[in-house]
Amino acid sequence: MKAIRLERNGGPEVLALADLPTPEPGANEVRVRHHAIGVNFIDTYQRSGLYKIGLPSGLGLEAAGVVEAVGANVRRFKQGDRIVYAGGPLGAYAEANVVNETRAVKLPDAIPFDIAAASLLKGMTARFLLRKTFRVERGHDVVIHAAAGGVGQIAVQWAKHLGANVIAVVGSDAKAEIVKSLGADHTIITSRDDIAKRVREITGIGAHVVYDSVGKDTFMASLDSLRPLGMMVSFGNASGPASPIPPSALQQRGSLFLTRPTLFHYTATVEQLDETSADLFDVLASGAVKIAAPTRYALADAAQAHHDLESRKTTGSLVLTP
Ligand code: NDP
Repeated sequence: MKAIRLERNGGPEVLALADLPTPEPGANEVRVRHHAIGVNFIDTYQRSGLYKIGLPSGLGLEAAGVVEAVGANVRRFKQGDRIVYAGGPLGAYAEANVVNETRAVKLPDAIPFDIAAASLLKGMTARFLLRKTFRVERGHDVVIHAAAGGVGQIAVQWAKHLGANVIAVVGSDAKAEIVKSLGADHTIITSRDDIAKRVREITGIGAHVVYDSVGKDTFMASLDSLRPLGMMVSFGNASGPASPIPPSALQQRGSLFLTRPTLFHYTATVEQLDETSADLFDVLASGAVKIAAPTRYALADAAQAHHDLESRKTTGSLVLTP
């Protein structure tokens, strides 16, 4: 099968297409023939070396497709099932992958493969952020960074669905138009606006919660945007990792809360995975959250997809087509 291999860390150019033997599933695994592969910002961290992985390695954590072989102990799936997974194992950038049955979910018939690969990892992220890390309620002032991106577009719609006052932070006027069309109440443009000042103008006292996936460039502005007892959710490093702060920085700004969560801890058990994905499929089915058609790249063009994602050129989700 064709698969992207990573021999060393580096820029997008280290992603090379290789011919590998098609893997056989172990007793608790299924082999999935991929129809669409999700591209996530975490893939760029693993490629660059910001997040360490053993090398050489495959790359990619998310794909949707059809089960074509099952291990002897598999109970959740049978051959021919449409499934999707978003927690690895690394190697989703390939024509097929083997996945432990407890790490995949059945795909509702109404959801096409490319929409599934565009939304499972990002949508489950929006779900744990808005429902578990901080429980957003009607009337909350909620700041969402990178709001026109893959996670961002889903989070904006879901937060609106929950009745929040959504303040969307984006990199350009064109992206601001997109998030307004998704229901954002206010937009802040990073290149021109003072984020904390604008959030205070909008909210008076500051936001209840800030979801910051940009990291280094925005972390302090996000802290300065919170009301007393507000929740700072630092969940990504698109601009690089945020610098350390002393605990007293939280006290001085109003006894703030700070968390640095990751999806994999919120979907660690099969029950958590099923609950989180079911909630996502519900908001997709009801139309509360709509997934824009993803930007497609051929599997062989994975490097181009990474280049575009890291250049802030993209909006919504990216998928690779095997
Ligand atoms: P996005 O589509 O959101 O792409 C990243 C966006 O970040 C860009 O479009 C850009 O939007 C913004 N950005 C700001 N500064 C930079 C910079 N210096 N370089 C690149 N981008 C920048 O990606 P994803 O939807 O895949 O992921 C969004 C974020 O969520 C990532 O940080 C990712 O790591 C994080 N994440 C965390 C998870 C977790 O469990 N903790 C799970 C899933 C995602 P703009 O131009 O509008 O600023």
